[in-house]
Amino acid sequence: MTPRRTRYAPSPTGYLHVGGLRTALYNYLLARQSGGAFVLRIEDTDQTRKVEGAVENLYEIFAWLGLDFDEGPRSGGPVGPYVQSERLAIYNDHLQRLVTTGHAYPCFCSSEALEIMRAEQSARGISPMYDRRCRTLARDAARTRIASGEPHVWRMAVPPGRVIAVDDLIRGTVEIRSDTVDDQVLMKSDGFPTYHLANVVDDHWMEITHVVRGEEWLTSTPKHMLLYEFFGWTPPRYAHLPLLLNPDRSKMSKRSGDVAVEDYRRRGILPEALINHVALLGWHPGDDRELFGVRDLIAEFSLERVGKAGAVFDVTKLFWMNSEYLKEQSDDVLFERIRGELGELIEVNGEARVRYAVASLRGGIQTYADLTERVVQVFAPAPHPDNEMARLLHESAIRDMLGDFIMRMAEIEAAQWSEFAGLEDRFKSVAAEAGKPYGVKGRTLWRGLRAALTGQPHGPELAKLVGMWGRERTLSQLGRALDTARNALSR
Ligand code: GLU
Repeated sequence: MTPRRTRYAPSPTGYLHVGGLRTALYNYLLARQSGGAFVLRIEDTDQTRKVEGAVENLYEIFAWLGLDFDEGPRSGGPVGPYVQSERLAIYNDHLQRLVTTGHAYPCFCSSEALEIMRAEQSARGISPMYDRRCRTLARDAARTRIASGEPHVWRMAVPPGRVIAVDDLIRGTVEIRSDTVDDQVLMKSDGFPTYHLANVVDDHWMEITHVVRGEEWLTSTPKHMLLYEFFGWTPPRYAHLPLLLNPDRSKMSKRSGDVAVEDYRRRGILPEALINHVALLGWHPGDDRELFGVRDLIAEFSLERVGKAGAVFDVTKLFWMNSEYLKEQSDDVLFERIRGELGELIEVNGEARVRYAVASLRGGIQTYADLTERVVQVFAPAPHPDNEMARLLHESAIRDMLGDFIMRMAEIEAAQWSEFAGLEDRFKSVAAEAGKPYGVKGRTLWRGLRAALTGQPHGPELAKLVGMWGRERTLSQLGRALDTARNALSR
């Protein structure tokens, strides 16, 4: 496989859209599987949209994701600078080349004039497009106006009557008539290039072999193809990825909900799960496997298996995937991840018991937050008992068994309360022994003990709960339950 040079070329918006992550990931995979290079280029030519700290954020979130760049603003590289606002002289040179060869011309139309033009076109039922009125200005006249300081932009002179073919690795050949292509502005009046000029110049000089980007750029590609032709360069291969959709098939946008990778990170999604999830938005492995680590993706990803149809971003599925990745983490890792939020609990109950709680309560969690919540709940004061459960305590067999059970629990030596596995066994045998003389066993026995210990119909396994609570709380809770049972008797 020949080494591919790919790039992720975001405008610095201050957050990473999940669609941006997918674009970056696919580019990353293509580079990594071919031993090529993955380049970060910051496309900040729109000065009005500049966001402070955006580049730092970007590096931070990619570090969290574990996706690294080979070249970019931070590490540099042989074809930098990698920030477009630092490359203005290069764009200017290239614009001059286009002017000299007659492929670019100055346009003096004011924004008001353009607006009127568009309004008239719309009124006549034709799609708005620059009417090319400045294209026919005499060179000398134009030069004089520029010299006098008249504001102007530079536009590309799209040749009439041509068919432009875009060879797309996902869509096949897409043909566009040049008559429908606007004389795109290449250089703005503020001296900054537009996306189109900068993108083409950079992809060429940065030796990008494959441009993988969102479908929304497909309509710009004919303009880019023309620019390559004007410069006499060979264009890279293109692949335009299908749109990302909400489950109702509307386009996924910032307004339609959580689209920022940062939000999912905050909600406790693991980078592995997020990467796995977005990898499958468009790409399919050809069988029904769903769990892919980055290594698997590097080995298996291919653009041939990326579809054209919009891909639905299903948050429920993402959380399911997250639970699958959480299963692979050790108890220690889970504990360390939430330790910060458990500070007070650890102080009061001791680290060993809180660690045991983490290990006991982790089954089926979807996020770290779920786990924290469960642990906090286990140590929190008992909620008001459920009526149905409280009534169980009034049954004479259970009441009598309870007295016996408490005595036997109190006999367990203090040291054994912190040998959790042993305590679980001991608890089970004590329970069985206590029930025997009263004929209480099986489901009735466990329901009765649950009524006594928590007063709730559902909750953690009792044999583990007593270990999490420790001797003091267990015995005092049981004592209270016995009081309740006896009070009912005397009433
Ligand atoms: N700066 C563009 C963006 O924000 C890059 C598009 C491209 O990859 O060509 O998506």
